Amino acid sequence: MNRESKEAAKILIVEDNPTNMGILFDLLEQAGFQTLMALDGKQGLFHAKAALPDLILLDILMPEMDGFETCRKLKADPRTAEIPVIFITALSEIDNKLKGFALGAADYITKPFHHEEVISRVKTHLTLQKQRRDLESLNASKDRLLSIIGHDLKNPINFLMGMSQILSESENGADEAQMREFVRDTYSVSSNVLALLDNLLCWARSQTGELKPAPEIFDLQELVRHQIMICNKNAEQKEIRLKNDVPRDFSVYMDMDMAETMIRNLLSNAVKFTDKGGEIRIFAAEAGDLAEVSVADTGVGIPPEHHEKLFSLQEEKWGPGTAGEQGTGLGLILCKEFVEKNGGRIWCDSKEGEGTTFCFTVPRSAAPQP
Ligand code: MN
Repeated sequence: MNRESKEAAKILIVEDNPTNMGILFDLLEQAGFQTLMALDGKQGLFHAKAALPDLILLDILMPEMDGFETCRKLKADPRTAEIPVIFITALSEIDNKLKGFALGAADYITKPFHHEEVISRVKTHLTLQKQRRDLESLNASKDRLLSIIGHDLKNPINFLMGMSQILSESENGADEAQMREFVRDTYSVSSNVLALLDNLLCWARSQTGELKPAPEIFDLQELVRHQIMICNKNAEQKEIRLKNDVPRDFSVYMDMDMAETMIRNLLSNAVKFTDKGGEIRIFAAEAGDLAEVSVADTGVGIPPEHHEKLFSLQEEKWGPGTAGEQGTGLGLILCKEFVEKNGGRIWCDSKEGEGTTFCFTVPRSAAPQP
């Protein structure tokens, strides 16, 4: 999963002098890096675009296209603009160093090479680059989180305030049946807010990496039965039937809390997007070593162009539920994270107007020790 930490960083050396190239190549390979070589600027640009290295060591003096020109071209192309460039220069060339920095170079190393220095500078800039990427991704997550809190928590809480105000005014003229309906709406909206808060907290914890799966073998039918019980109140209001078609004694091997969060989210989504009088079925089947679990509704369906976006945090979600229910899409993102942490995957089959089935796979038993 964690590719960045396990795979060796890829470094491109662009250098026309074979002796220098040989020294740098040996140095970097010995330090455990994956190394690519280019003997001139043109080849360098080609490799940079094709292989997208993590860092580029770039000689300045080269025939035809020199290092400065190569750097300019790298920085002008959005695909390669963010790759740190370290110039290779002779010790005395102060003007070249300054010109390099002006062109966006991250650093320079001097010839003749001091081995430890080369490796330290390369490592420093790889670390900086990784931190920059992490920061960008955290920032995107933060933006999304703020927008969820802004839109999706504010609306229902406004609604709850309005409702409680109406209920507190004894002279509002509402009859008992109406009052009961208000109270039921209040209950349903508060339970949605609670579910959203649950998801937000889960997601925040999983972002910090502190949420590790503790897989165990358990009876899926039993877990689904329990989740259906919890979800039933919202389903009943829309006269939607929830059916547990998981076979008896059907066991799966995954983190039980995560399984509960997944089933809860898939069920509550299905209820949101199914019209009054519809049906939601949960069933499971063996598929080799895996179990394939499905939550199928007779709901409004999802247009095909939205299927992939459903599991991505940065995408805006589409429409509210069939009774105007609010949704953030956070539930599905959690489902994807959790199922992948447990060695499975999740996808969606849907036809507009006919319904949606969310399927996910999980192991049926612990993997045998190799
Ligand atoms: Mn040269």
